[in-house]
Amino acid sequence: MDTGNVLDVAGISKSFGELRVLTDISFQVGKGETVCVLGPSGSGKSTLLRCINWLERPDAGQVYLNGAPIGISGAGLVMTDRELSRVRTRIGMVFQHFALWPHLTVLQNLMEAPLHVQKRPKAEVRDEALALLAKVGLGDKRDVFPARLSGGQKQRVGIARALAMRPDLLLFDEPTSALDPELVGEVLVVMRELAREGMTMVVVTHEMGFARDVATRVLFMDRGRVVETGPPERFFSAPETERARSFIQRYAGDIGGSRQRSAINS
Ligand code: ADP
Ligand code: MG
Repeated sequence: MDTGNVLDVAGISKSFGELRVLTDISFQVGKGETVCVLGPSGSGKSTLLRCINWLERPDAGQVYLNGAPIGISGAGLVMTDRELSRVRTRIGMVFQHFALWPHLTVLQNLMEAPLHVQKRPKAEVRDEALALLAKVGLGDKRDVFPARLSGGQKQRVGIARALAMRPDLLLFDEPTSALDPELVGEVLVVMRELAREGMTMVVVTHEMGFARDVATRVLFMDRGRVVETGPPERFFSAPETERARSFIQRYAGDIGGSRQRSAINS
């Protein structure tokens, strides 16, 4: 199924026991797009991201990365853990909590997977890691251990570490939600820059200003379904459903807020 999209999510459903969490979710992400997934807490956003890279196995539906199914091998069988791991190296993930390796320096955190999972040459991996650290504004922190970094710095290392794998797709799950408000802007600046450079991204966020300014498309979820999807200008100025309207109203203050924060830091 090669549609030219980086990501195709086709009819994903997922339950945990009796609890239906995702119902028939479908969307596509083209190369260079930034799709922002919005929705109230508990609407299934994290589960959706986890189903994309098969950290959770969908009950129904299929996910394709560059036209190739994730989770199902060429023979039509469920992929082995080894096959799944290989596919997942193409998809970078940035979580709310930073999950850096505490016993490795910042530079070592970036080099670990490219060296030991991708088995790329050390000099190349090192050069690229240093360039990525400079890009996220942390060139001077290369030899520091994660415990010495602020939350915003940790999250920027997390993004650089994901990029070090040269992924086709980056998934973000509320990357700024755990940060002190004054540290949010520095992370959003990095994400804006990635979007501008044409990285393909799916971003679950409550930063409405970011979604409005950066998203090529917004996906609004509620109770496990995609309730609305469209360009951010339309979604924010003329939402079609009452659920989206009340959601936007609830976060209306954030739109100005994150604008200001990112202006301060850019
Ligand atoms: P969101 O990220 O939008 O807040 P989640 O995807 O985390 O939503 O959760 C959606 C629903 O699924 C919630 O009711 C949550 O409690 C439930 N849920 C998530 N993961 C599991 C799990 N592993 N087992 C059981 N229930 C889960
Ligand atoms: Mg979540």
